[in-house]
Amino acid sequence: MSTMSASVERAAELAESLSEIRSRVQKAASGSFPPTLVAVSKFKPASDIAVCYEHGQLDFGENYVQELIEKAEALPKDIRWHFIGTLQSNKAKSLASIPNLHTIQTLSSIKTAKALNKALPSDRAAPLNILIQINTSGEEAKSGLPPLASSTDVAASELFQLAKIMITECPKLRLQGLMTIGSLEQSLTASETDQNADFDRLKETRDVLQNALRAELGDSDQMKWGQDGILVLSMGMSSDFEAALKAGSDIVRVGTGIFGERLKKMAA
Ligand SMILES: *Cc1c(COP(=O)(O)O)cnc(C)c1O
Repeated sequence: MSTMSASVERAAELAESLSEIRSRVQKAASGSFPPTLVAVSKFKPASDIAVCYEHGQLDFGENYVQELIEKAEALPKDIRWHFIGTLQSNKAKSLASIPNLHTIQTLSSIKTAKALNKALPSDRAAPLNILIQINTSGEEAKSGLPPLASSTDVAASELFQLAKIMITECPKLRLQGLMTIGSLEQSLTASETDQNADFDRLKETRDVLQNALRAELGDSDQMKWGQDGILVLSMGMSSDFEAALKAGSDIVRVGTGIFGERLKKMAA
């Protein structure tokens, strides 16, 4: 992979858009923790990432395993990589070999959780953070487990089972929270009205799951998941991150807003 530097013009452009997005994130923040901005760099050159890194950006998101491996090798080792692409259990080994992979945001199966736990080196500095992906919009084309509501039989749900297995049987993984993409339609609504049914569903799912985990596992396991016993939420992208933050998001994933349009050679 080329690690050539960005041009002076490109570097200035990136610095400006990064700083603009950062101040918009600060202004819209309303969650329990200071929000994390993940700069989504898929299809963008390592030189673009290097510019953002020089301006203090440490969290970057990638969708494709091979692209992530190449960038992680070429770029500074204190970058916190977030995998946000479609995840298959046969990719667990490759992902687990990246020492500074910080979070996988798209886990949705017990099989993959176990494969990751097995593949991660035992001398890893810290457990791998995991967000479970929820298909809040119920669209067939989107990955993730179905959301929970207060009326759901939580104990029987795949989400509860996955969360419980991660906490009790996967010491190399740390369940941190939930992630969703949501429908484009809701995103458009949210940018006008700050009302997004998919964001609301993710929050409700978090609350229901959190209560069920507390009831099932008790206080002694509270420190083994979430941030101070609270599951964090990853929701909001370039078009709707402000609405997501106002709705209580802790992690926003912004690509286009920082790096500009992508060539849409692959569906993302
Ligand atoms: C590509 C991608 C993003 C970033 O999308 P933008 O609209 O460019 O900000 C965020 N989340 C996921 C899961 C993605 O695949």
